[in-house]
Amino acid sequence: MTQDKQQGIIIFIAPPGAGKGSISQKCVKELGWEQLSTGNLCRKNIEKGTELGQKIDFAIKSGRLVSDDLIVAMVRDWFLMSQDKKKTILLDGFPRTVPQAMAFKDMIETDFPLTKVLIVQLKVSDEELTKRLTSRLTCSNKNCQEVYSVLESSGMVPQEPMQCDVCQSRLMQRSDDNIDTVRDRLSNYHRHEDDLLDYYSSISLPIVQINVENSLDKVFDQFKSKIGAQVL
Ligand code: AMP
Repeated sequence: MTQDKQQGIIIFIAPPGAGKGSISQKCVKELGWEQLSTGNLCRKNIEKGTELGQKIDFAIKSGRLVSDDLIVAMVRDWFLMSQDKKKTILLDGFPRTVPQAMAFKDMIETDFPLTKVLIVQLKVSDEELTKRLTSRLTCSNKNCQEVYSVLESSGMVPQEPMQCDVCQSRLMQRSDDNIDTVRDRLSNYHRHEDDLLDYYSSISLPIVQINVENSLDKVFDQFKSKIGAQVL
């Protein structure tokens, strides 16, 4: 049903470590979609020492959420620069709270009225998430930020130890991927998850659920058959 496909915006409801970044990277490479990772944008701002970066540094390092106003402004700027894009956009890490979701709904209705918005909920246990996050390695090159794992079962082990397959930069552990910060990030996430699900139901947006306990390749196949068939 190719003729029914239209540009989409994919919103993930997914805890940190569920694989939304890795699924998004696969969509970018294999389907030509666009990815907006608010976490990556935040880290780039910190690395560059921008005014925004200085304001959000503490929140990021301690695993807390950045304020809704700052995040929404950052996303608005990104969308203004991307308005001519016709491909599907994946939101990796946004909206994370109901006020962010409400602000984003207004933005879409004004600037992207013909876009199909799909909510994708990634389901995985906290035990698995903690294992994944504390085993995660990230490329230290802020323009790359490719994600790997030291867990063989993930299918994401780098070809050379501690080296990025894509740009050959050094791999590192993110400062917020340590066990204490991971616990805080997961508890923050759960505090907002039910509210977000209720909000999307209240505005009649359908929610597609995907179990992501499997390897990335299997999850991606499931994602493509459930979501890829609906959008450009
Ligand atoms: P992530 O890479 O998605 O795990 O995000 C890393 C950190 O960036 C989070 O722990 C927050 O401090 C911040 N962050 C990213 N996206 C958001 C958002 N939508 N709202 C608030 N804080 C965010």
